[in-house]
Formats: sequence, structure tokens, C-alpha cells
Amino acid sequence: MRAPTRSIETDVVVLGGGCSGVMAAVAAARRGAAVTLVEREGTLGGTSTGVLDTFYGFWAPGERGRRVVGGLPSEVVDRLVAAGSAFVRPNTYGAGNGVTYNPEVLRWLYDELCATAGVRVLLHTSLTDVAVDNNRPTRLVLTSGSELIDLRCAVAVDCSGDAVLAHLAGAASEGYDDVPNAQALTTTFSMAPVDQKAFAAFGRAAMLERLAQAVDGGRYQLPRREGSLHPTTAAGVEFVHMTRVVARDPRDPEALSLAEREGRAQAIEYARFLNDCVPGFELAHITWMSRRIGIRESRRVRGRYWLERADVVGGARFGDAIASGAAPIEEHANGADTRWEFLGHAYDIPYRSLQAAELDNLLVAGRCFSASHDAHASARNMAQCMAMGQAAGTAAALAVDGGVTTGALDVAQLQTALREDHAIFGADLEVAA
Ligand SMILES: Cc1cc2nc3c(=O)[nH]c(=O)nc-3n(C[C@H](O)[C@H](O)[C@H](O)COP(=O)(O)OP(=O)(O)OC[C@H]3O[C@@H](n4cnc5c(N)ncnc54)[C@H](O)[C@@H]3O)c2cc1C
Repeated sequence: MRAPTRSIETDVVVLGGGCSGVMAAVAAARRGAAVTLVEREGTLGGTSTGVLDTFYGFWAPGERGRRVVGGLPSEVVDRLVAAGSAFVRPNTYGAGNGVTYNPEVLRWLYDELCATAGVRVLLHTSLTDVAVDNNRPTRLVLTSGSELIDLRCAVAVDCSGDAVLAHLAGAASEGYDDVPNAQALTTTFSMAPVDQKAFAAFGRAAMLERLAQAVDGGRYQLPRREGSLHPTTAAGVEFVHMTRVVARDPRDPEALSLAEREGRAQAIEYARFLNDCVPGFELAHITWMSRRIGIRESRRVRGRYWLERADVVGGARFGDAIASGAAPIEEHANGADTRWEFLGHAYDIPYRSLQAAELDNLLVAGRCFSASHDAHASARNMAQCMAMGQAAGTAAALAVDGGVTTGALDVAQLQTALREDHAIFGADLEVAA
């Protein structure tokens, strides 16, 4: 085994620079911790910049849905809107307001937020191993090109989406193949130039009718009879969210590689359908395809609390609430349709669902937090992932500052800090507008 070529000491390490990881890193650094953010790609944002362009989950569904996420995630939205790089789509599909943004500007904004907060960002760097001492992850082995990095940390926050750090540290989890209806994978793409007036006049319902005819007629190899198209921050550019790849476990590199190929092939086929069958798309080309296939669900860590379907459906409140959600349970499983189950109220996400069950000083946030398949299908929206990230980063910094473990951290202190930073949860939901 080669000796490390570089050593780093840090208070808090955050693995994964997606929307949850950036929030965790910035929140921890703003609270005074020395933070290292590790991301395997050459850009921050993960799914939020590589696959998508619309935040959901900031508002509860409904025409006058209340706001359920504030704090640092809201700061991101406000800055994008102020820069003219985002706009609100009211109560999209009845699931609450969506915020459609320019992902390229968001990449820049994440860079800015990290730089201003003093986060040490390691791009092009992957986690390969974790050492656990005294039941805590204390050393990470990172690789970047030919560099082998030995990173020592007090607290680790896993925002890798796939719970890579938690898994390597020995934390229990529920995986893609543990549920019969694991969420499908999706390659997204954009098309331009689209005659958006012609498309608007034709309408979404008519487009879906054509799609069903195309699937039934067998002229196109399309797995899904529905899907969404929406305008972007650039005139004449439509974002297409239609492909569906099933039965490919994202934890298996061969299955994931096959999924990438299938997703791209489907994107080409959906574009052919749009060109041929939908007014406004006659002259459009694919101008962008997601940098990687979008993974909704791969590994969910078993934490100190397992957020259940009953919690989400019943609007659960917890004494250790740190974030909240209200989005419908949205199931993209096998088959041609998507199942939506609307809740009609908000629920809390407890701090315990960010703590690995058996290990200390290991927090998880975002797509890999501790929740059942159904609860996750509501709480995986980016606003909730970001709010969890802010909470995990704040908890990590407070634990380091107070010389306690993340498990021994005073939850009331964490909640006070989060409220100071404008997070919304628990009783705030009664007053937040
Ligand atoms: C197709 C699709 C459509 C969706 N639509 C919406 C939507 O419209 N609106 C919405 O709000 N939500 C949507 N979601 C859900 C939401 O996008 C995700 O749940 C959320 O973005 C997850 O963020 P995250 O930070 O937890 O994880 P990710 O975005 O997956 O980020 C994880 C990061 O960790 C990095 N990483 C992983 N392993 C390693 C390693 N070993 N070393 C270093 N880095 C590593 C990855 O490169 C990545 O950058 C959608 C999801 C998908 C897949």
C-alpha cells in the first residue's frame, strides 16, 4: 500500500458537494469550524446542477401554500432570483411552488458561498476508505489523480447521496434492492429552439395524449406515458424530464453504466417523439443532457430515528425537529406512470434521522438520510436536502466548538442556532408564511 502523499487535518469533513453537502459545509464554516468539502466531480452541485433546474419543497402544495424551508437554502434562492437567474413557477403540478434556476449560475453561487465562508473545497477528489476509532470516523482516505490524501477529522458529514462514507464506516443502511419498488433513474435533457408559444397553445394535456398514442402505437420505444416539459431561464429552451430507467442498482458500477447508456438512448428517442409529434418542437435539438443519470434512491442510512411513511402522512412533530417537509410522496417506480400522494400538511424531520445509529460523530444529510422508501419519496426534494444539510453542518460545528460528540449535542442549542439562521421547523410552521 502506498503512503499518503498529502495530509489534511480538519474539524468537519463533508463528503459530497451536492445541494445538501454545500449547505452543510457553508453552515459549519459560518459557525467557525474548519471545514473540508470533498467532491469527486469538477464542480459543486451534484444532482442540483448536473441533472436538474428546479427546486421543489420550499413551499407546501397549494395556491397559498406556506413556506416550510427558510435559512441558508432560502438565501440561495434569493440570490439566484436577485441575479435574474431564477423564477418561481406557482404551484407546479399541484406540488407547491417550484423555483426554476440556471444551473450554471448555481454552480458559480455554490463556489462563492464556499469561498466566502472559508470552506476548503477539494474537487476531483474521491473517498476510498474510512478508519473508525472509538466508534467514530476519524480518518478518511481520499484519492485525486495520483494523490493519496490522509484526512483526519473530528466530525464527518455524509452528503454523498449514496451514503458512501457511512457504508464504508460500517453503518447499517437500506439499499436499492431491499425494496420492491425502488425509484427509477432518469436522464434529463434540454431542447432548443422551441417555439414556446406554439407549444403553450397546444398544451400539456394534448402533449400527454400524443405521448400515450406514441407509446401504444409502438412507433417509439418510450417507457413512460407521462413526464414533464417546462420553460427554463433561457428563452426558447425547454427542459425535458421524461426518461425512466428501472431495475438498475446504482450501487453496482456495471448496472449504473448500463443505466447511463439506456438513459441517453431514451433521451434521443423522446426527442424524436417531440420533434415528430409536438407543435413547437419541430426544429428543436438536444442542447444539453444531464452530466450523469439522476439517481433518486440508492442507500438510506439506518439512523437513530427511521422516518416512516406514517410520520409523513400524519404530519409528525418531533422534539428534536431540525427541518420540515410537506411535498407529496412521489413514486417513480416500474411502469409507465408516476404515483403522487398529497399530504395536506407539513411534518418535521428529526435530528436523530441525521445521526448514524451505531456510530458517533457521523451525520448524514440529503438523499441518504434515515428514512423509509415512502418517507424518503416525500423528503428527497432539494429544499429538504438543503435544510438537512444546514442542520447537519450546524450540529457538526456546535459539537466541535463545545467539545462534545454529535450524539451528546444539546438539541435545544442546535435548534436555537438554526432559528438564528432562519431555518423553519416545528412550531415555526404555525407562523411561517
Ligand atoms: C431525476 C430526478 C429528478 C428530480 N427532480 C427534482 C426536482 O425537480 N426538484 C427537487 O427539488 N428535487 C428533485 N429530485 C430530488 C433531488 O434532486 C435530490 O434528492 C437531491 O438533489 C439530492 O441532493 P444530495 O446533495 O443529497 O445528493 P447528490 O445531489 O446526489 O450529491 C451527492 C454528491 O456526492 C458526490 N459523491 C458521491 N460519492 C462520492 C465519493 N465517493 N467521493 C466524493 N464525492 C462523492 C457526488 O458526486 C455528488 O456531487 C430529483 C431527483 C432525480 C434523480
